[in-house]
Amino acid sequence: MASYTDSLRGYGHPIYQRDNFKCQYCGADGKASFEVWLTLSVDHLLPVGYPDRENDEFKVTACMFCNVADNQYFRHAEKRGLSFDGLTPEQLVEQRKPYVQDVRDKYEKFWEENVKPA
Ligand SMILES: [Zn+2]
Repeated sequence: MASYTDSLRGYGHPIYQRDNFKCQYCGADGKASFEVWLTLSVDHLLPVGYPDRENDEFKVTACMFCNVADNQYFRHAEKRGLSFDGLTPEQLVEQRKPYVQDVRDKYEKFWEENVKPA
């Protein structure tokens, strides 16, 4: 067993490896940058209560921003008309992407107005 299992990254590493260390929502590349790699996290594609939730197939690599960008996603799913039944992991990522992107867009606008050097 590799020593990384003892480390902080042990839990996510096999999932990051499968996903080539890229955030599945925004494409941030943990191989290209140590700073990005530090932000990688495991994102659950299924809500609590789904039998496959803890199956690695239904977990993907997400940077911390994308992971929490729409953190009420599961709670709002019903009123948004979203369903999780019978979808593949790829379809679940595609279903969530627009909600993550929407929050990113708002943050980017804020950054441009308040942080970006003039
Ligand atoms: Zn991301």
